[in-house]
Order: sequence, then C-alpha cells, then structure tokens
Amino acid sequence: MSAHTFDTAGMAHCPFMPVFGAPAISIERGAGTEVWDTNGTRYLDFLSGIAVVSLGHANPVIAEAICRQASTLLHVSNFFTNPQATAAAVKVNELLHAASGRSGQIFFTNSGAESNECAIKLARKFGGRGRHTVVSALGSFHGRTLASLAATGQPAKHEPFAPMPDGFRHVPWGDLDAMRAAVDASVAAILIEPIQGEGGVVPAPPGYLQGIRDLCDEVGALMMIDEIQTGFARTGEWFGFEHHGVSPDVVTLAKAMGNGMPIGACWARTEVAAVFQPGDHGSTYSGTAIATAAASAVVDEMRRLDAPALARERGAAFTAMLEAIPQIESVRGAGLLLGAQLLPGIDAPTVYKALLAKGLICNAVNASTLRFAPPLTVSDAELTEAASKVGEVLADVAGVPQ
Ligand SMILES: *Cc1c(COP(=O)(O)O)cnc(C)c1O
Repeated sequence: MSAHTFDTAGMAHCPFMPVFGAPAISIERGAGTEVWDTNGTRYLDFLSGIAVVSLGHANPVIAEAICRQASTLLHVSNFFTNPQATAAAVKVNELLHAASGRSGQIFFTNSGAESNECAIKLARKFGGRGRHTVVSALGSFHGRTLASLAATGQPAKHEPFAPMPDGFRHVPWGDLDAMRAAVDASVAAILIEPIQGEGGVVPAPPGYLQGIRDLCDEVGALMMIDEIQTGFARTGEWFGFEHHGVSPDVVTLAKAMGNGMPIGACWARTEVAAVFQPGDHGSTYSGTAIATAAASAVVDEMRRLDAPALARERGAAFTAMLEAIPQIESVRGAGLLLGAQLLPGIDAPTVYKALLAKGLICNAVNASTLRFAPPLTVSDAELTEAASKVGEVLADVAGVPQ
C-alpha cells in the first residue's frame, strides 16, 4: 500500500501511527527548491524538510555520490571501518577544528536525538558518579528519545511519558543568572542551542554563550552545543556557535549533514572523547558507508559553494523582503533560519495553511511565528516569489477578522 492512497479524513485507514496528525499533502518529487505533490501541484519548499535539504532536493552531486556508493558498498559492521566513514569523519572534524580551534573526534549516528543521547552519555561518563546532571534551557528542543526528551525544556512533552530519566534540569532561556544558580557540583554539562529552532527561532542573546563557556570553565562542566538545526552553514557560519566566538567541548549534528540521508554525529574535543572506552557506546548503522558517502559529498559541495556565504547573502535579502511586509512585526534568526513574528491577532497556523494552498511550504513554529528555512541554494527569483506569496496571504488574512 502506498502512503498516499489512504483517506486523510479517516485516520483509521492510515498506515502510520497517529503522532503527526493527518498529513497535509503527499510529496513525490523535488528539484532544488521546488517539490511536486502526487496531484502534480508545484510548491516552493521554504522549510527544506526542517532545515535538512540545505543543498536542494535531488541535488545531482549528492545523488551521484549516493548512487555510486549504492552500487559499491552500503554497509559493513563496526568491526570494520570503510573509506567513506573515514573520509566523512575527517571532513567534519576539519570543519569543527576550524570553527572551535580544537581537534576532536566524532561518533556517527542516524538522527539528531541519537547525537544528543551520545553527548549525554559522554557527559555522564566524563562527570563520573554523582555528577551526571545536564542543564538545558526552557523552550529548547533536543529530540524525542527518552533522554533527549528529558533534556528538551518543554514540560508538556514530558508529562505523558513520566517518569523521565533522572538528572536533567531546566532554566529560563537567555538568563545567565538562572543558569549560574542551577549549576552545582552535580552538573556534568550544559546543553544549549545557539538559536532555539523548534522553540520559535529565538537566537541566544549576546554574551549568553560566552557566559555559559565561562561558567563551564569555572566549575569544570562540559559546554555541549546542539547544532542539529543550526549546523552546516544554515545560519551563515558553518556552526551557530561561531557567531558567539565560543569554543564548545561537545557539538551535536544531524539534519543538513546528509541533505536528506539520515545521518548525525556527536563531536567532542579529543580529551573529552577519550573517556569513552570500547563497548561504552555503539550503533549498528554508525558510520554506514551509504550515509557517510552522502555526508562527505555534502561537506565537499558546501565548501565548493561557500554555503555559509550563500546563507548570509540570501538570508539578508529574504529578511529585507519579509520586513517590508506590513503584517510582519519583526524577523528573528540568522542566515536562512528565519522566524517571522506576525502582528498580534494574526494566527500563524492559519497563514501556514493559506500559504500551502498557494504553493509555498513553510511552518508555523508557534501560534504567532512562521519559520522559513529554504535550501541555501535558493535563487533570488524564488525568494521574490515566496515573499510575494507571504505578502498576499497576509494581506488576505489580516483583512479577515480572526
Ligand atoms: C531536529 C532537532 C533535534 C532532533 O533531531 P531528530 O533527527 O529529529 O532526532 C534535536 N535538536 C534540535 C535542535 C533539532 O532541531
């Protein structure tokens, strides 16, 4: 049974568990910023599968790397390595070495949540018995597995699954005094996003990450940065922490790393990574050849295009277009991870639905904010087309009482 033959109105026939709600459309094909649904309707994809497809849909360079690897070798166990895993690890380590000034080592995962699981286990082993607490921010998002959910600062998401694993603490986002007050001798690490993505595209205030770095240095805790949404050039730097001039101990990655091939990683500076011994952690698919071939090609292609510069230039252009729309109060974020704050009274989910009907994909990240994260390869003409759709829909919606 193909996924798009079920009746979206009658979820009883849906083959998927009901965790995502009824899917709006079924997309079967993409090219660059464009996708087409099963009815042949074209959309501009200004969400990129939630900041995943940063080099565009069906990118020919990445497709070629995946196809070549598919007919060469997909997978071997972790009793061995493979040239693709080694090459991808070296390339990601090089990027993080350049960004942080520290040499490190990585563990490949299959998703963002698993990257954070690895970081949390590393922090616990690093801290030792009695020093296992991980502090994160309210409004944060770190994943859906039990430990990454416990780190996620959204109590409503914990409630149905209580009890949560022990050893997690949350503090108000952006408040350095609250962070300082929460860090005692039981704290092994602070886990933080440079921009809260799922939390509404809310950037860390100036000085916040530096303050956390100083605090971690004072008490000997690890500074762990969740770059799952912000990493790989999305914000106009290779990694979001670079905007703040800090050097983290641990960095978690996924989303754009494979341009849609499921792959993530946990990076730690070498002295921290060294607390892991053989057997402490693992995953069948860690470093699998097909996914690492994609990641390797992503890094090469992003370097060739100077992806951070693309995100900066196109992000600035799109921000200016959005700011010119009267119903948009302000635009937050960096590069091409943008949140458009709508005027009070305008309901973002309503606007999202109207935009989808007009052929523009974005998302209502909360009740009053639209999130835009188009491919970094988006053209000027596509930016203009998207902004005019947003302007038209907002003019319509704002004319109708909510
Ligand atoms: C998406 C996301 C995750 C979770 O990644 P999955 O691949 O869905 O497990 C974790 N942290 C941040 C910041 C994210 O945006």
